[in-house]
Amino acid sequence: MVARSLLYEGKAKIVYTTTEPEILLAHFKDDATAFNAQKRGSIVGKGEINCTISTVLFQYLEKQGIPTHWLESISANQMRVRRLQILPLEVVVRNIAAGSLCQQTGLPLGTVLKQPLVEFYYKNDSLGDPLLTSDRLFLLELATPEQVNQLQQMARQINRYLSEFFQRCDLTLVDFKLEFGYDAQGQLRLGDEISPDTCRLWDVAETDPNRRVMDKDRFRRDLGNVETAYQEVLRRVLAQGNEGGGN
Ligand code: ADP
Ligand code: MG
Repeated sequence: MVARSLLYEGKAKIVYTTTEPEILLAHFKDDATAFNAQKRGSIVGKGEINCTISTVLFQYLEKQGIPTHWLESISANQMRVRRLQILPLEVVVRNIAAGSLCQQTGLPLGTVLKQPLVEFYYKNDSLGDPLLTSDRLFLLELATPEQVNQLQQMARQINRYLSEFFQRCDLTLVDFKLEFGYDAQGQLRLGDEISPDTCRLWDVAETDPNRRVMDKDRFRRDLGNVETAYQEVLRRVLAQGNEGGGN
């Protein structure tokens, strides 16, 4: 399976077409960005770490019956995926208040939400990925009410599976971002990646609000030891993945 040509280069991945029209090659980069790419840097080894973590989690979710784009790992930082028509939506699931939810609502950091909150953001870098209301989502025709329902259901289900998985890694899944799209057969699938770039993960054993952070917030907030945290998440995810990921 040979990469044919560059399809697009994003902030975290380069996507290539292949000789098979329905299959793409995703190459995970070490580049790190935050605050809509206003902060740029690099996390050594991140490409391999995020590709490997995503691989374990996509395989685990597939086992639980969640359709994903993942097909095969071809190297530590490259995977073969089904080509999806990606919906221009970032589906965010929150279990604990952090980040923009705290900034925009005043909820204290660490507030455990009574039930998971599912939010839709407009995937549009030039607009700064704004939070959508359902009326705005329908106004822009980004999805139909049926699609919104299906996305919410899938996101909640994925949250249950991922929360359980990370709990077994002694990590609390605070919140995470998902991207979905349709494959050539019209099936809705989970795409993109699941990694410390796209999930907030807190070490269960730590109560200190900075020391517990095991995700991209270490980079965003200059907390140091970014690589160490990513490596530790990888180590725990692999250990759990090898145990069968809890079927
Ligand atoms: P971004 O800078 O938008 O975060 P990334 O570098 O994370 O982009 O990823 C590159 C692009 O690949 C994104 O636009 C993402 O939506 C897209 N993408 C992810 N999975 C697939 C897929 N299976 N098919 C088509 N595009 C995909
Ligand atoms: Mg991305």
